[in-house]
Amino acid sequence: MEFTQFHPTTLYHPKGHNFLISESVRGEGAVITDTRGRPFMHKYHEKKDLAPRDIVTRAILNELLESGDKFVLLDLSPIGKENIPKRFPNIYKTCLQLDIDISESPIPIVPAFHFSCGGVMTDIHGRTNIERLFAAGEVACTGLHGANRLASTSLLEAMVFGRIISDYTIANKDFYYGFKFPEVRDWIDTGIIDIIDPALIKQDWTYLQNIMWNYVGPVRSKKRLQRALIDLRNLQEDIENFYRDAKMDRKMVELRNAIQTGAVVAEHAWTNRDSLGAHYRID
Ligand SMILES: Cc1cc2nc3c(=O)[nH]c(=O)nc-3n(C[C@H](O)[C@H](O)[C@H](O)COP(=O)(O)OP(=O)(O)OC[C@H]3O[C@@H](n4cnc5c(N)ncnc54)[C@H](O)[C@@H]3O)c2cc1C
Repeated sequence: MEFTQFHPTTLYHPKGHNFLISESVRGEGAVITDTRGRPFMHKYHEKKDLAPRDIVTRAILNELLESGDKFVLLDLSPIGKENIPKRFPNIYKTCLQLDIDISESPIPIVPAFHFSCGGVMTDIHGRTNIERLFAAGEVACTGLHGANRLASTSLLEAMVFGRIISDYTIANKDFYYGFKFPEVRDWIDTGIIDIIDPALIKQDWTYLQNIMWNYVGPVRSKKRLQRALIDLRNLQEDIENFYRDAKMDRKMVELRNAIQTGAVVAEHAWTNRDSLGAHYRID
């Protein structure tokens, strides 16, 4: 679960419009620069802007740390003003809607979380350790991606494993079809029910996101992970207490699941001291 891939080039926008700027833009010649227009990737890797995702991500974060800026720039001018709308119509249109004309000016970018290589462990048939529960797609850990994912392989993985699972259940249909789930008991109303305060849920999400980004993000260390584990345990304790006394609600369940998932990622990152693929520790 510690193998979490970050994408180096996501649109930075004050109103928080998340939008991924494809790597193919750099493939066509776009260059990452600081806010003064100075390229910096040559300092980090011989392939410069075409270095692997994790290296570009860390380079950007390092530059941001040194400069104190909130974003760096992706300069598309080497592609040629007239080619940009033709080669990248979606990126061009989306940015234009946000008042950024990428044929005239560079795109403000920051790295962002992108893909989880780990997940629910499956075997080659997509089976998990819970009978009749299969997993396919990003939620699954089939082992296909190893410690880092190659671009454009996750949709393929989801389709391939979806097909494998379908074939497997059809081949074993006597076991898998016609199964009836045990009846779920009704909610027991104890009378001591907390009202879920949306402000608290929102704040907990922000807190969780900050913990994960700052301490379990692209650059990890013993101290950062230690802090993450302490903060996540506190958050987990709070939410568990709240969870017991509050009436089930989708937002609440999602928050609880997210905290649990974050804690598993942090624990695995803590345990694994070797930097490999999408898991990077400075110590
Ligand atoms: C910006 C971006 C660009 C990408 N580009 C590429 C690319 O070019 N090529 C590539 O191969 N991969 C790409 N990826 C990765 C790829 O898109 C994802 O890995 C893939 O879409 C995951 O598919 P999935 O069906 O496993 O999960 P999801 O697409 O996340 O689907 C899970 C679904 O489950 C639903 N769900 C969640 N909880 C519940 C619940 N409790 N009950 C019922 N439903 C629930 C969700 O609403 C969602 O619809 C990209 C990812 C991002 C973020």
